Amino acid sequence: MELRQLSERVFVLEGSTNIGIIRSSRGHAIIVDTGLDESTARKILRHCQELDLEPQVIMTTHAHADHFGGNAFLVKRTGAKVWASPFEAHTLAAPLLEPMGLYGGVLPPANLRNKFLLAPTSPVDVLLEPGRQIMDGLEGEVLLLAGHSPGQLGFGVDGVLFTADAFFPAEVLDKHKLPFLVDLGQTMATLKALAGTKWHTFVPGHGPVLTKVEPCLDYNLERLQEIRQLVLSSLGEPRQVQEILSDILEHYGLLAEAPSIYHLDLAAVKAFLTHLADAGEIEMRVKGNRLVWQRLHS
Ligand SMILES: [Zn+2]
Repeated sequence: MELRQLSERVFVLEGSTNIGIIRSSRGHAIIVDTGLDESTARKILRHCQELDLEPQVIMTTHAHADHFGGNAFLVKRTGAKVWASPFEAHTLAAPLLEPMGLYGGVLPPANLRNKFLLAPTSPVDVLLEPGRQIMDGLEGEVLLLAGHSPGQLGFGVDGVLFTADAFFPAEVLDKHKLPFLVDLGQTMATLKALAGTKWHTFVPGHGPVLTKVEPCLDYNLERLQEIRQLVLSSLGEPRQVQEILSDILEHYGLLAEAPSIYHLDLAAVKAFLTHLADAGEIEMRVKGNRLVWQRLHS
């Protein structure tokens, strides 16, 4: 992982999940997300030591295992306090909620309980609300960036905004095609709200740091519209959600590599279906003991 300085006080540790290290006062740091596991947390600690900083606050943007998997270790080693939104705090305290949520609220088999979906339990010390916040003496701005996760937060300081998984840079989106989201309406509202904001640097949860974010936001919106259209096109006749997903995977030439990836994709498709149902375009029905989605013709 590479450490890059973005402002006098703000650093990013670039890796498969980007991590923020912000100097809050002499000798102290705020950590934005802790990555997947203990090995990432050890790297964060090493970089903090090089900068002569002791982590005091861990700001968790959202409760996905690849963003808070290092919390437990970092807290054990440093005593840092964890700040998170009230919604995400539930999953930090009971991480099984993540794989269970993905599996319809039911305990899933072991291949959905891997470290990418099930992180060690993290304490939560402060419930964080959007707005101006002072953490360890440092004033920053907390933004609600819901959609990818219901209580996802961004954190901005010195003109740098950590955006978590509110959007995905083109290289990430082109690889995965179907971005994970739980609420399409909120995801689109968040993308629109980020356009034209005052921040000069954007640090997404994954992929490169951006200084010009609008083309990327537009690209994310276009891709979501495209998937929405693909879901509708798949409903020439009533279909089950798994059938709709296979149409979309086939369209993009994708092969779901593992049950965990399949379930993430399936959840995203369900978010599109809910959005279309709420817009009165489709409905969910039970037909011949099959749960199907169909278009509504007015
Ligand atoms: Zn995420």
